[in-house]
Amino acid sequence: LFIAFEGGEGAGKTTQASLLRDRLEASSVPCELFREPGGTVLGEYLRTYLKSHRPTTPEAELLMFEAARTQLVVEKIQPALENGKTVIADRFSASTVSYQGHGRGIDLGVVTALNGFATQGITPDLIFLLDVAPVVGLSRSTGGLQLPFEMDWAASISPIKRKVDDRRFEDLDLFFHERVRQGFLAQAGANSQQWVVIDAALSLEEVTERVWENVQHLITP
Ligand code: C5P
Ligand code: MG
Repeated sequence: LFIAFEGGEGAGKTTQASLLRDRLEASSVPCELFREPGGTVLGEYLRTYLKSHRPTTPEAELLMFEAARTQLVVEKIQPALENGKTVIADRFSASTVSYQGHGRGIDLGVVTALNGFATQGITPDLIFLLDVAPVVGLSRSTGGLQLPFEMDWAASISPIKRKVDDRRFEDLDLFFHERVRQGFLAQAGANSQQWVVIDAALSLEEVTERVWENVQHLITP
């Protein structure tokens, strides 16, 4: 069983993915949790790079996410699934469709083809979209509304240089995040068998309960 959590910034993916892992383990279901980008030496290296060294071209960014993904799939996800484990992913292919496709404007056909190449056709059985308005998610993920000056990287560079050089400044653009959100909703709408959309503005407990309702009947301890 392969379950992915998708959604924008501050939606609670990481929290919900680890709560689900704990609950599955408590039910004696062997499982592994991976984050994207990450989960392998290459993936964590690229994650650090992507979080601290922007800007890159959208195309370079896309290829880095796909490089991280293919390494994770081949090295970790595929073997875990073959060993009968349940795999939980904190982001997967749909994030690339939303961020690099809908968000950065790369042709969706190119993104989809590269996703297929990187995943070798492995797709989640179930995808939770934790859907939240960007203004809510961003204020959660930065711990307040004092954007962008609360960001951890802000201290190290001057405001002017930051504007010019740092892609993450652009990452606070609500229009960008609204495109990303609509990208997720479009994917969920087009494949409602695979996707479960949860209102991530609900309380943590309510979201956790909705996740569990949808997983409980799929597991065979
Ligand atoms: O919060 P998370 O651990 O998911 O961090 C991943 C970062 O990478 C986020 O800032 C997110 O905006 C970004 N991202 C992206 N394109 C993707 C996936 C994540 O820009 N395909
Ligand atoms: Mg997270």
